[in-house]
Amino acid sequence: MIAKDMIDKLCIIGVGLIGSSLSLALKREAAVGEVIGYGRNQANLEKGLELGVLDRYETTIAAAVEGADVIVVAVPLGAMQTVFAEIAKSARNDAVITDVGSAKGSVVQAALAEFGDSVSRFVPGHPIAGGEQSGVEAGYATLYQGRRVILTPLAQTDAAASARIEAMWRRCGADIEYLDVEHHDKVLAATSHLPHMLAYALVHQLSSLNDHEEIFRYAAGGFRDFTRIASSDPVMWRDVCIANGDALVDLIEQYQHELNSIAQAIRTADADELLRLFSHAKSQRDLQIGSC
Ligand code: NAD
Repeated sequence: MIAKDMIDKLCIIGVGLIGSSLSLALKREAAVGEVIGYGRNQANLEKGLELGVLDRYETTIAAAVEGADVIVVAVPLGAMQTVFAEIAKSARNDAVITDVGSAKGSVVQAALAEFGDSVSRFVPGHPIAGGEQSGVEAGYATLYQGRRVILTPLAQTDAAASARIEAMWRRCGADIEYLDVEHHDKVLAATSHLPHMLAYALVHQLSSLNDHEEIFRYAAGGFRDFTRIASSDPVMWRDVCIANGDALVDLIEQYQHELNSIAQAIRTADADELLRLFSHAKSQRDLQIGSC
């Protein structure tokens, strides 16, 4: 009899930053028997073996999921549906399946389309942890320590399947929260997806200027802090935009309106309005997040 929070065979589809960190965290806790990887890049999978992220890898999804009791899909959002279709053909009929995608609506739609009745054993998830690095070498065992993992189960999700995935993330040191899918996508559009758009847009704008090399030479701490996330993986962020487009476009439009108000206050030298806006923003940031 295996303990509720022990995984016998864990299959990770897409062995990058998020998938490899999960494996390393579970291995450190001795909470997993064998970790089997599948990905498209054989050199990356070989590296996974070398780094102790994987115990073995397979070159087809069918072989990788065979016998696995938990399957984690950690590929970019745009690849989820194709991967789900392959898993559906070959997974054990009691395997619990989860994903780590940064948006949930599109993943849930793909799962409903591909898993049929087995969708009850699919638990959508999103670790609120990560970074700008990608690939298996970027993974580390403490990535999820003290971080949140949001689970967005559906009405038909089996409670035991949710409990299994919750226990897996708890073994990695994460705190678990439950949100509904739509709410998750709205909140994450505001707190994560919009800021990435702003960072990409700023670096893109400045790098189009004739004297951009000089501008970047004088970039100070604030610019570095604000634009760090523009070094994130372009494929991942392309897919997030497509997957969570509606919520994101609404926020981009609100942000444009905000910038127009600032431009107007500057144009008319409206010092009171600028002070009011900056003071309000500062007090909210200090209150909600802290002053550093
Ligand atoms: P990554 O680029 O480090 O890893 C993704 C891996 O998936 C790569 O090894 C890639 O080769 C592989 N892959 C791509 N397409 C595939 C396919 N069709 N079949 C099999 N493997 C495939 O990316 P990551 O940062 O680990 O992100 C993975 C997922 O986690 C994404 O869905 C992303 O939205 C989500 N996520 C990322 C972060 C973050 O900050 N990086 C945070 C939370 C969630």
